[in-house]
Amino acid sequence: MSLSFTHDQLARRVLFHAGAIDQLGAEADRLGLKRLLLIGRPRYARRVQEILGSRVAAVIEDPVMHVPAAQAAEAGTRAAEASADGCIAVGGGSAIGLAKAVAKSQRHPVIAVPTTYSGSEMTQVWGTTVDGVKTTGRDPAIAPRTVVYDPRLTATLPADVAVPSAVNAMAHAVEALWSPDRNPMTDLVAAEGIRALVRALPGLADGRPEASGHALYGAWLCGICLDSTTMSLHHKLCHVLGGLGLPHAQTHTVVLPHVVAYNAGHAPEAASAIGTAVGSDHPATALQDLTRSLAAPSSLCELGMTEDAIARAVDLIMAAPYANPREVTPDGVQNLLWRAWAGATVAEV
Ligand code: NAD
Repeated sequence: MSLSFTHDQLARRVLFHAGAIDQLGAEADRLGLKRLLLIGRPRYARRVQEILGSRVAAVIEDPVMHVPAAQAAEAGTRAAEASADGCIAVGGGSAIGLAKAVAKSQRHPVIAVPTTYSGSEMTQVWGTTVDGVKTTGRDPAIAPRTVVYDPRLTATLPADVAVPSAVNAMAHAVEALWSPDRNPMTDLVAAEGIRALVRALPGLADGRPEASGHALYGAWLCGICLDSTTMSLHHKLCHVLGGLGLPHAQTHTVVLPHVVAYNAGHAPEAASAIGTAVGSDHPATALQDLTRSLAAPSSLCELGMTEDAIARAVDLIMAAPYANPREVTPDGVQNLLWRAWAGATVAEV
């Protein structure tokens, strides 16, 4: 790559250590927040509520995946009625996504306490869904101002949530490596992010608590990649499949090796960096072998997709042009999706 690039990065405060949530009161004070809307399921948010005490002005306990617009509107109303001056999200991408939607309507600062590896906490990307169609956009004002990573929170994630979530994170870095606006900084961050997640994955599958710290570190780096670069075919595919009702992180897990196989020959530097991180000259095969060995989902069929939905997905994917290192053709997408649907071994060139 020739050294010519533009790199934008938002100022953001990140705390990363076991027990970091104990500092949430001080972090709220730092932002001058006195009345917070707390978003998060009681199971993970209760401790945060205890720590913040009277700073919590209202609570939303049931954030729904992909931020239904009706829930976003309701949450905005709750925030206004409680005279909230900020929002704190404790949970995965669903809780953080709802907090961003509230920030968009109320222009509040957000504090994010991630309990999965989705990476949403590091981005200015918002999304809301109406009738199964998700609209996304970017707004620097809704990006969490403070992110508190506490590996003790992710240590309790069950393996069937933790493993797909970590592969979801890895997908951000993989696509950053072949994005049109990548730069030397994002290349470094992406490679290190994939390495950290590859290292963490076996421990996440076995429920080893120390793996959650490595995975959270990787998720942070991969979240930076998602925020700093333009995503390509993989995220487009998963976005469309999510709109058809498939679960987010599990869909990323099935599709990623197939997209790496599709693009690798057209993005040799990215393929080489992914290969180095996964320790193989055949990155797509290595990724698929890794996820299969951890008993992660391996077919879209097992996630509930019907074979006849493939044609609909191809139409939706072809409807809007976007960047990708390899030309995206209807036949190419059809073949890729069919292989992912059937759980076929990746077709690596
Ligand atoms: P999620 O937030 O729905 O969490 C997945 C599951 O994990 C849920 O069942 C949740 O209850 C459970 N969970 C969370 N924390 C837990 C814990 N500590 N212990 C046990 N269970 C726990 O899903 P997700 O995969 O984290 O995020 C997906 C959503 O985020 C999607 O809507 C996706 O589009 C969005 N997303 C947005 C961005 C962005 O930048 N805007 C980035 C990534 C993902």
